[in-house]
Amino acid sequence: TDLRNIRNFAIVAHIDHGKSTLADRLIQICGGLTEREMKEQVLDSMELERERGITIKAQTVRLTYQAQDGETYILNMIDTPGHVDFSYEVSRSLKACEGSLLLVDASQGVEAQTLANVYLALDHDHEIVPVLNKVDLPAAEPDRIKEQIEEVIGLDATDALEISAKTGRGVSDVLEAIVQRLPPPKGDIKAPLKALLVDSWYDPYLGVVTLVRVMEGTLKSGMKVRMLGTRALHDVTQVGVFRPGKTKADALGPGEIGYVISGIKDIADAKVGDTITEEKRPCEAPLEGFQPSVPVVFCGLFPSDTSQYEELRDSLGKLALNDSSFLFEPEVSPALGFGFRCGFLGLLHLEIVQERLEREFGLDLITTAPSVVYHVYTKNGGMKELHNPTDMPEPTQIDHIEEPWIKATILVPDDFLGPILKLCEERRGEQIDLTYVGDRAMVIYRLPLNEVVFDFYDRLKSVTRGYASFDYQLEGYREGDLVKLTIMVNGEPVDALALVVHRSQAEVRGRALCAKLKELIPRQLFKVAVQASIGGKVIARETVSAMRKDVTAKCYGGDATRKRKLLEKQKEGKKRMRQFGNVEIPQSAFLAALRMD
Ligand code: GDP
Ligand code: MG
Repeated sequence: TDLRNIRNFAIVAHIDHGKSTLADRLIQICGGLTEREMKEQVLDSMELERERGITIKAQTVRLTYQAQDGETYILNMIDTPGHVDFSYEVSRSLKACEGSLLLVDASQGVEAQTLANVYLALDHDHEIVPVLNKVDLPAAEPDRIKEQIEEVIGLDATDALEISAKTGRGVSDVLEAIVQRLPPPKGDIKAPLKALLVDSWYDPYLGVVTLVRVMEGTLKSGMKVRMLGTRALHDVTQVGVFRPGKTKADALGPGEIGYVISGIKDIADAKVGDTITEEKRPCEAPLEGFQPSVPVVFCGLFPSDTSQYEELRDSLGKLALNDSSFLFEPEVSPALGFGFRCGFLGLLHLEIVQERLEREFGLDLITTAPSVVYHVYTKNGGMKELHNPTDMPEPTQIDHIEEPWIKATILVPDDFLGPILKLCEERRGEQIDLTYVGDRAMVIYRLPLNEVVFDFYDRLKSVTRGYASFDYQLEGYREGDLVKLTIMVNGEPVDALALVVHRSQAEVRGRALCAKLKELIPRQLFKVAVQASIGGKVIARETVSAMRKDVTAKCYGGDATRKRKLLEKQKEGKKRMRQFGNVEIPQSAFLAALRMD
């Protein structure tokens, strides 16, 4: 295909602004799907969309479009995930394209992820077409939102399109704008092969499938290719495109996006961001790759039923096949037994993995409080990356501790500004900027990630009744006065409840946690002491008083069934309990460490 007839674009938007709906419409108009298939696709898309978010995979579709100028164009559309945790994923999709559609809900306006994603697109030198969606809604105010786009983002919105992805109104103008306003790709078909490995995933039938964007030269089946980063050699067995089903092609030329199957067995050999070239005629320099994604939040995952350990390991292995940003390693906890310490890109990522394990793999899990990665500098001059509060060295050995800080952007209606500022201040935030966008405030704060991991989203939602949007970027490490808070039950430390907190908050958190645990730990036959301590010094204490507990005592008479049911119910509950010393601690106690009211 002539390069002039190719357009590669991404759709960037805040979550729920209509990206998937628009993508489905474009596929429908370009005849990728019949009316019947379209229905199925739309039906599927709810589940699929979840799946997408979950596998954290951007989707790619090739469309064929007959434009008003009489020419036929190939449009490669990459759908990107909207959430902050996956900006890494967004970034690599953008690298494969020359332009973006910036989709903004005309009733809601610019949100935190609109900004984050459009800035990413601008960083990649994208040409951007602003599109106002949902103009069918009575609450839509396209003119006001256009002003907002100009004011906040600094993009010219005079020619912004006004559409309804739902009713189809204005959608054909989107296709014309893609052709007329976005630039075609550049690239020399005769040059040595140079292709960007955009994504890779594991297919149980085909092995590792990679998504590539060819920059120069041609990629054909039968070719021997080399990965410039890993130096690995592979034989290309098939190339093709998604339309949206997998469709074989003879070759992929410059400017094209498609898939490659090349007998790679291990996903680790298909590193996202790597450059693919031909073995016998290699290109000179590799493409600029991506920053590797680094897990920033860690937590322990343990099976509530210890016999599910092997299953958990297999399931984590399967998930990791398709999600290279997710890490796991075995962990043994005296309190929770055998499990895994897992690393995630953020809290949403954590939740998604946890939900998948429970939903798809039928596992029942106990999750420990998420923790950020601390840099612990010891007196002997070493530095330890702390993934688990339990592994904190003795205070006497520590020189100082550094913690990760983020730059957070929060957009919120003016009415809720007060509570937001209060929340950020409570969380050791430092205000960087406060501006207005119409009746909405845009607040920029520097915050320790540790404070965000600890129920920040929940608090943000509750103090703004869901009207705030939030986005953040990691800024770097800074020294902090941090201590390990140990929780002891009857004098024994419960490793899974250990936390790293700022010294100024240790006492409040310790007290609150003890009080919570007092409520959650069922009464036993003896008194149970719950204590919080720092470096051996007790800072809070509660007592669970003793009680004789016999659930069957009330079942006098001969009602054996009822008695048995009660006992079974109790047994079921036990699975979710953890024996600790001589005390049983319910799973809810471990969750309590995550949330405070
Ligand atoms: P995404 O998160 O950006 O992919 O958003 P979706 O495409 O999943 O859309 C979010 C919600 O907005 C869904 O309930 C859609 O039906 C709805 N929606 C999308 N486009 C429109 C539109 O043009 N008008 C109206 N009224 N609703 C829309
Ligand atoms: Mg979507």
